[in-house]
Amino acid sequence: MNKVPMSFIIDDPAPVYSTFYVHRKNHLTDYGEPILEKFPNSFLFDFCDIVEKHNMKGKFSVVPMVANQGDIINGLGDAPMEEINEWLDTVKERIAPRFAIGPEMLTHAAAIDLETGKDLDVNEHEWSMMQTEETLTPYIKKALSLLKEAGFDAYGVTSPWRFGIDVEDEYYPSISKAVYAVTGKKNSWVFCRGLRELPDAKPWVAFEDGDRCLVSIPATTYDRCWTMLCTGDVSEKNILACADMYITEDGKGGDIIDVLESGGWPIMISHWQSMYTNGTSAGLRVIDIVGERIKKNLSDRVEWMSFGEILEKVVRDKEAFPIPKVFNV
Ligand SMILES: [Zn+2]
Repeated sequence: MNKVPMSFIIDDPAPVYSTFYVHRKNHLTDYGEPILEKFPNSFLFDFCDIVEKHNMKGKFSVVPMVANQGDIINGLGDAPMEEINEWLDTVKERIAPRFAIGPEMLTHAAAIDLETGKDLDVNEHEWSMMQTEETLTPYIKKALSLLKEAGFDAYGVTSPWRFGIDVEDEYYPSISKAVYAVTGKKNSWVFCRGLRELPDAKPWVAFEDGDRCLVSIPATTYDRCWTMLCTGDVSEKNILACADMYITEDGKGGDIIDVLESGGWPIMISHWQSMYTNGTSAGLRVIDIVGERIKKNLSDRVEWMSFGEILEKVVRDKEAFPIPKVFNV
């Protein structure tokens, strides 16, 4: 039996700084606890241990100008350059072999004026809605170029929030053009959509121009670690309950099983801040349990793939991956 591709989307990682901290204007969680502004590099090391242990693969963002703190080449806020470089080197050595690396645009916070380098008064999502291919292309090129300069082979992007979704006809060509201009690669990927509870949920060919092709790879589960960020309940009981929502211990229930049963590809999602769970790493414990359960119950049914491997598979057989009907109206 052919195994079904399975993948894991990690949104929002960056060296040191948290985008979640700046997204909450009062810097408090829903239950009133101060949100930590920074992540220690030890959290990245712990994440690497877990994905290596379970052979997980997927997509991992690196936000190049995270939270308007500067950039990954010239420095971020008051973080020591050694700490930033240790984070970047670890991602190169331990994450990049199994996760496609891509920017989640420049800041995942306030948009940047490319001419002056100054922060604008709108966040990147709001900014994107007013843009065209002409202005989106250099913005995405800048994000890809920063990752290239830092030593990453980035040929896909993630939308911060719903970046570009309201101007898809401008956004998709600009991704394809920007990737080709910065890397010379004709095939690129984008993560900007969720396809949850939809039968047969799979990636699709989102844009083609000559021999350039852009593949949209959706999340097909929810981020089940996020609820712990909202409630602060990081008890062992709740950690197990969150793991059950991805996949139960007996491998018979949960998002992943629902997607498989409906003929789709299980593409899990979580966020850097929801796995860190404000310093407790409770979400990462969930992922550890889920990785173990997938290995135990689904080894003969699914095959872990990075976004790079998924992109290659789709491009080899484009007609088999049409735009889902839900968007094609
Ligand atoms: Zn994000």
